[in-house]
Amino acid sequence: MYHDPISKQQAPSSSPSILTRAIQRQPDPAKITAIPSSRHILQLSAQLGNQQVGKWLAKQGTLQAKPVIQRARFLSEGNANSISERILHTLSLMEEDGDADSQQYEQLEEIYNNFDAGSLATETIEEIRALTHGSMFDRLDDLDTWMESLITGNVRSSNYPSSYSTAAQQALTTYKNNHQNPMDASECLCPNCNTYVAKTDMTIDHVIPVATHWNTIGRNTDRATRHTWYSDVNNHEYCCRSCNSSMGSGGVRYSMSVGPNYRG
Ligand SMILES: [Zn+2]
Repeated sequence: MYHDPISKQQAPSSSPSILTRAIQRQPDPAKITAIPSSRHILQLSAQLGNQQVGKWLAKQGTLQAKPVIQRARFLSEGNANSISERILHTLSLMEEDGDADSQQYEQLEEIYNNFDAGSLATETIEEIRALTHGSMFDRLDDLDTWMESLITGNVRSSNYPSSYSTAAQQALTTYKNNHQNPMDASECLCPNCNTYVAKTDMTIDHVIPVATHWNTIGRNTDRATRHTWYSDVNNHEYCCRSCNSSMGSGGVRYSMSVGPNYRG
């Protein structure tokens, strides 16, 4: 009997892999194709862990495993649902405003109609950002503002610390003591608004904004590097909470994708 050596090599292993079995357990197997949707990747990641799913995706040869997994970390399925709902809401408000015959309405409607399986894809998010950013329509402008705060919050909280190193906190304390109000020891000077404010209201501000660091270095490096940079006093200045929040990210928008050297 003739055995094709190639067929023999490709003979499947006796039992399906854990991933195959996990996919078979998915609620809608009809939707499983060679390229799984971000939603399925999320589900699989939750079941099996990112590393294993990443290896499997890499094997498919059609997707770069890491960026897909990391995008899933930035925006959850819940976030995607919120975006979807918000788009629908925006569309109805635009209709009320009489903007439904505009080209941008049609473009947003198309994005909404396609916003399902690939809803977490960077490309889709970037499409919405490109459409809404700087729009002349108030409703699209509102959507842009809302979505940017969602992206900013997610990227920042999953990649940068929420508190500073002891050394950085000590430097802030030193600043407060050196710029204390001579009339009231509980206050110190905010150099930005040139006002004495409560010491408890003084904050650390990054001279190079976190968003700039993320876009240029942070999205292509490891967590330790990002954390070290975050607490680097050479990049710190001090100002009151009100000044700090009004400066924001300086208008810099967080990139949604990561580089090959990114480590979460
Ligand atoms: Zn101030």
